[in-house]
Amino acid sequence: MISYDFEYYKPTSIEEASQLFQSLDEQGKEPIYFSGGTEVITLGRVNQIITGAVIDIKGILECLVLKKNENKVIIGAAQSLTKIREVQLFPFLSKAIVEIADHTARNKITLGGNICANIIYRETVLPLLLTNSQVVIASHNGLKQLPINEVFNQKLKLEKGEFLVQTITEQSEVDLPFLCVKKRRQWDVGYPLLTVAALTSNEYIKVAFSGLCSFPFRNQLIEESLNNKQLSKETRIEEAIQRIPAPILDDVQGSAEYRQFVLKNTLLDVLDAWEGEGNA
Ligand SMILES: Cc1cc2nc3c(=O)[nH]c(=O)nc-3n(C[C@H](O)[C@H](O)[C@H](O)COP(=O)(O)OP(=O)(O)OC[C@H]3O[C@@H](n4cnc5c(N)ncnc54)[C@H](O)[C@@H]3O)c2cc1C
Repeated sequence: MISYDFEYYKPTSIEEASQLFQSLDEQGKEPIYFSGGTEVITLGRVNQIITGAVIDIKGILECLVLKKNENKVIIGAAQSLTKIREVQLFPFLSKAIVEIADHTARNKITLGGNICANIIYRETVLPLLLTNSQVVIASHNGLKQLPINEVFNQKLKLEKGEFLVQTITEQSEVDLPFLCVKKRRQWDVGYPLLTVAALTSNEYIKVAFSGLCSFPFRNQLIEESLNNKQLSKETRIEEAIQRIPAPILDDVQGSAEYRQFVLKNTLLDVLDAWEGEGNA
């Protein structure tokens, strides 16, 4: 049960949603956007999210788009993970999705809710970072389209009142070979000990991580180390690990030492998959 009362709004246009946010904010209702609602409700029950009004974006057509258009894949932020996976427009994203929660939860969880979640994993962002996707953001001045690598730094950097409308990915990026490996402490469903997503383009390997630090990330220095073929794979991986940008998580899912051990093996598997096992 949620211990406080809040108002529920379901606008049918981007403008209406933005205006609602502004007026509810002026009334001191501390509004928040609501998509799948799984996190808003879970954190609401334990008073970690407290709000006087939620704005459900599932009535906005632009947030429900799911299509391929002129060599671009466009996905609305309010689409459920199940639906995105079913249409198979973006196999790399589908692979990340199928590892998140169970089917019933994925029917509710949405792409935008996962990317903007308070929880530290936000695994759907990994394929988007690696495919240089764009994000469409609604602000009080209208829509803006930006590269996700510019606006996602630990989390999606949104100004007050802004919300994610869509992601846009070039088909040429969607078609690139990828790997997405999720390691859990136990069971088939659950938060990751570590997720490594990787993509290769022109023999250059790009990688992004969730569960390694307290936020998901892609890091160019790590990629440079992994792609330095003058060194052995083991040395490249050692160098890459030195470049992890924040402390490695040490929590109930696993110790920092164990995560580092799993990371080394997983990165070796990634390099073996694309360079062959024999290459030193
Ligand atoms: C059993 C279970 C297991 C899970 N396992 C994993 C896992 O392993 N890895 C993982 O990454 N996730 C996992 N999740 C999902 C994660 O915990 C969140 O619950 C989920 O991502 C929230 O999505 P939602 O659509 O329900 O978002 P909501 O609850 O609607 O919103 C979440 C937050 O994002 C904001 N928000 C929502 N949409 C937008 C938008 N378009 N623009 C701006 N802000 C927005 C909301 O205001 C809120 O703060 C799991 C969830 C469950 C229930």
